[in-house]
Amino acid sequence: MTNTYLLGGKVLVDAGWTGSLPDFFKCAKQESVNIDTIDYLIITHFHPDHMGIAGDLAELGIRTVVFDVQKSFMHWADVLSEKRNRYFKPIKDDETVYVGISESREFLEDEGIAGEVIHTPGHSDDSISVILDSGAAIVGDMPPYPQIEAYGDPVIADSWEKIIRCGSKRAYHAHWPEYDIKYGCLS
Ligand SMILES: [Zn+2]
Repeated sequence: MTNTYLLGGKVLVDAGWTGSLPDFFKCAKQESVNIDTIDYLIITHFHPDHMGIAGDLAELGIRTVVFDVQKSFMHWADVLSEKRNRYFKPIKDDETVYVGISESREFLEDEGIAGEVIHTPGHSDDSISVILDSGAAIVGDMPPYPQIEAYGDPVIADSWEKIIRCGSKRAYHAHWPEYDIKYGCLS
């Protein structure tokens, strides 16, 4: 139900609902992904369909990354996730990697990935987007760019402006098909 992106075989962006670990293994097998080489999980925002298996992945050695703008939200969905699945494993604060969003380029560079992470509120205050130098923008649950006028929300428009200013050309959402971002359409 949630698109998960793997960057350079080493950094995962988003993970599904609690209880979806078997699906994660199945998809990894289908895509011939070696889970052992994955170092980190970046979560676009701490809603239950994006962080549900972070605790399970941490036990496999995939460490959760929390950016400074997300820190106060990292346990936001724990109660809901626990209700949905009693085997839910919350993220352990002391096993989490905390990264300042302004240092995201260096952080990704260390993993061999050219890009940066930016704060893109609109869907939620803790929403971030991963923008690769290739032009790919992983935007989580940002309302889709073609629909922003319908939302009429300046916070969403500002976040999209930031995403485009970073050179993004193609958008990758968590629950929406990928598409080319058309320039010059922001009102
Ligand atoms: Zn979502």
